[in-house]
Amino acid sequence: MQDPETQEEIFLSVVIPVFNEEDNLLELHARLSATLDRYGRSWEVVYVDDGSRDRSWDILAKLHQVDPRVRLVRFNRNYGQHMAIFAGFERVRGQVVVTLDADLQNPPEDVPKLLDKMGEGYDVVGGWRQRRRDSALRRWPSWVVNKLTSRVVGVDLKDYGCMLRAYDRNVVEAMKSCNETSSFIPALANTFARNVAEIPVGHAERTGGESKYGLLKLIRLNFDLMTGFSVLPIQFVSLMGMLIALVGLAFGLFLFIRRLVVGPEVEGVFTLFAILFVFVGIQILGVGLLGEYVGRIYREVRNRPRYVISETRD
Ligand code: UDP
Ligand code: MG
Repeated sequence: MQDPETQEEIFLSVVIPVFNEEDNLLELHARLSATLDRYGRSWEVVYVDDGSRDRSWDILAKLHQVDPRVRLVRFNRNYGQHMAIFAGFERVRGQVVVTLDADLQNPPEDVPKLLDKMGEGYDVVGGWRQRRRDSALRRWPSWVVNKLTSRVVGVDLKDYGCMLRAYDRNVVEAMKSCNETSSFIPALANTFARNVAEIPVGHAERTGGESKYGLLKLIRLNFDLMTGFSVLPIQFVSLMGMLIALVGLAFGLFLFIRRLVVGPEVEGVFTLFAILFVFVGIQILGVGLLGEYVGRIYREVRNRPRYVISETRD
């Protein structure tokens, strides 16, 4: 955990995943280093290039040349934001580890706020995007996911999606020892943390580049999150199945008695169709969920490396 040149303990490591962020990197690094220099504790930053296809790596390599506090990891292709952060965790030396997006949506100027809060004795401090500058289409699903995740993980947070977060080194070490192929870092951290705090941080619209998350990628991430942390979804589906079967039974009984009392009739065929659709939908969902778990087990059993690093620079 010591800086090889100065033999000093490093206080802070910042981990930043980078995927096609050529427009943001220079401003990001300038603002980050200005902020941290003002804060006055020793620091380093680990940029993880998640298989960028633009000039991001060249820019990072230049930053590394001029600034000894910059350390680099490069993936051979795109493995996703959370894998990139894991790779960064493998190399951190600081006592406190902060994760930050490269897109400047969360201002680097907010990092000291997290550090101050850590100083009060918390081992995880999350940022909470109080005024989130994303479309409603992005915010509403997030609200649902935050509620669900809070229940599943057992730690009530307003914003699990915000990646501006600080972790005690011990929590990072615990996360590193989890060799799961996919993991949602803020949720994983909370399963190891003793006390967690959440403080409001700024959020700006993306100015350079574009969001790397389309709707599909977002749905997949959230599926991962739900099935990765509990068997609750599958239990919920089973419960629904039981309830629906009971309702169906009662409905059949009702139809039978009605047949005896009123006599034969053909009305209501379409009601039956409607009900059938509900059943079929839930069945397919159940099968899909099962598939998700089986797929996860398959991935873990194969035990392939989670990512391949093509280059590192210290
Ligand atoms: N990112 C990454 N790999 C990916 C997607 C994103 O390393 O496959 C990085 C990206 O460069 C950024 C952060 O993760 O630093 C968040 O991505 P983005 O801003 O696109 O997500 P959003 O803010 O839309 O949730
Ligand atoms: Mg963003």
